[in-house]
Amino acid sequence: DEKFRIEDDIPRYVRVNKLKASMEEVINVFKAQGYELINPDISLFEDGAKVINSFKNLKSKTFMRDIHLNDLLIFSKNTDFHDNKLLLNGSIILQDKASCFPAYILNPPKGSHIIDCCAAPGNKTSHLASIIDNDGRIFAFDHSERRLQTLNALIKKAGCSSVTSSCENFLNVDPNDEIYKDVEYILLDPSCSGSGIVSRMDLLISQQDHKDEVEDLDSLEKLKEEEEMARLKSLADFQLECILHCFKFPNIKKICYSTCSVNTIENEEVVMKALSQNKNFQLCEKKKVLDTWKNRGLNTFQDSEKMLRSYPEQDFTIGFFVALFEKIEM
Ligand code: SAM
Repeated sequence: DEKFRIEDDIPRYVRVNKLKASMEEVINVFKAQGYELINPDISLFEDGAKVINSFKNLKSKTFMRDIHLNDLLIFSKNTDFHDNKLLLNGSIILQDKASCFPAYILNPPKGSHIIDCCAAPGNKTSHLASIIDNDGRIFAFDHSERRLQTLNALIKKAGCSSVTSSCENFLNVDPNDEIYKDVEYILLDPSCSGSGIVSRMDLLISQQDHKDEVEDLDSLEKLKEEEEMARLKSLADFQLECILHCFKFPNIKKICYSTCSVNTIENEEVVMKALSQNKNFQLCEKKKVLDTWKNRGLNTFQDSEKMLRSYPEQDFTIGFFVALFEKIEM
């Protein structure tokens, strides 16, 4: 288990941008480029969950369709796309599988008005635009001007004409502004610790590095732990504040909350606190939250089945968490 290394074991995921080309067209271009489409080796579980057993058959120049997401393709880990015309013309977007969950699970219908609160660099924003086929409006916010420039370049290349981006602190966006009166869907993917994208091996190596520098390893470890706890606590406070702010939009139906963290404090704990502070919202039923996905929220929490987690070692994608809130109809 400890030998797991993200860079070695995670395949390359390719999302088809339906604003530029259909899945069938993209598959045909890859075939014409000499790639062979193969069938994934799948296990089906009694509860309807399914997993891909191994990526070992995925030799170079072979690829397969994903079994959970209909707009995703999987290639072997060393595939190089940098000069592929499909990437250059915006027909495909290189996006890890778990990071495709939020827009897919939010699943806004065509015509929707949507907010993407912490949007840069814009992968999920462009996924939303692809899902609604540019029919609707997407308000994308990020407080970093630099990161917003990356988003603007991405949405231009991907043809996302439904997106309006603004450099703004989402917490200062006024929920009662007329312009957001038709917003029914929110995607909230706030800053997090990113612990889902750090391999355990990297952690071991970094601890090893410090061993040579300090004699009193125990006190260093303790200090590092305290600093880390303070950082996680402040991230969790921010994440909770963002969810509570989303709850204030007057016509909201669904909010998809996600992190690329595996820490309970940023995930299930934040979700439970948000629900306890606003009784007008609940978690959506499991069947609306990718019920074919095996790993769910930690079962020490109520309604854990309604939340979703991914683990690099088991799922061959980054560590991730998703919860889908819905407004309770009165
Ligand atoms: N959803 C993005 C994607 O899929 O490409 C990734 C978002 S990243 C996890 C979090 C983003 O939140 C960062 O770009 C950061 O600049 C932004 N951010 C942090 N605090 C914010 C705030 N108060 N208001 C708006 N954006 C914020």
